[in-house]
Amino acid sequence: MPSPFDPTTIASGPPPEADSGFGPPRPWVLLEASYGDLLDRRPTLALLPWGATEAHNLHLPHGTDVIEASAVAEAAAALATAHGARPIVLPAIPYGNDAQQLDQVATIHLSTRAALAVLEDVAASLVRQGIGRLVIVNGHGGNDFKPLVRDVMLATGITIVVVDFFRLAPAVAAATFPDPGDHAGQLETSLILHLRPQWVTRRPGPGARAALLPRGLDQPGAWTPRPWSVVHPDTGSGDPAGATAARGRAFFEAAAAGLADLVVAWDALPPGAGPFEPRGDASGAGAERSDG
Ligand SMILES: [Zn+2]
Repeated sequence: MPSPFDPTTIASGPPPEADSGFGPPRPWVLLEASYGDLLDRRPTLALLPWGATEAHNLHLPHGTDVIEASAVAEAAAALATAHGARPIVLPAIPYGNDAQQLDQVATIHLSTRAALAVLEDVAASLVRQGIGRLVIVNGHGGNDFKPLVRDVMLATGITIVVVDFFRLAPAVAAATFPDPGDHAGQLETSLILHLRPQWVTRRPGPGARAALLPRGLDQPGAWTPRPWSVVHPDTGSGDPAGATAARGRAFFEAAAAGLADLVVAWDALPPGAGPFEPRGDASGAGAERSDG
């Protein structure tokens, strides 16, 4: 029977590959692990990559933050597993807070109340299965998890750590990127040139700031979200010039190692403990820092 689908309507491009190029399943990645794998391995700590689906200048994929957060989480989980930990990387949450970017085509916004509901349901599910430790691996600067984490920890009993992967390995970032930028700039473009070089086919815009910071907002403590398209006409914040796959790889590997460190150390503590441990000294002399 002839196919109702006329292949001559496909404009161009190579046919899909029969062999996807995927390797064997990684038991620390939930999308790849079988139930049998999970019963054997019994993960003790979950990593939840959380991205955004939004414009990244003219040249990077809309899924850039999802790709980055997932890749860092998966690489960190591989390293941590090699060091005896039992992490599991959950499927990424693809949407983030993009309330100021909704004039940009096919940019999707997830409200804070929806994000809270998602996080609470993920946490409640994990707790029922004996997984009481969750690391959110955030890939989007517009996501702010602190109040959500406080509420979800209270409601479910889970313990959550938030990691903004792009803030990891600051010394490596400083040594690697002369001008990292903060959105689709040198750092992010380098990461995608490392992770998905075949997806970078367009020329970027300059990633410039086109609006002045209003007087009074240019002091510490004052803040309002940027009306993104007014401030950044090509949606980029930072000049992608100078981005290379080698720079992306250097930062990627350092960030994954930093995250793996946290996972290994936390996983080594007895169930229910950590990430903080009492020092047996209630004087407060050992307090290292407070970030609220
Ligand atoms: Zn991004």
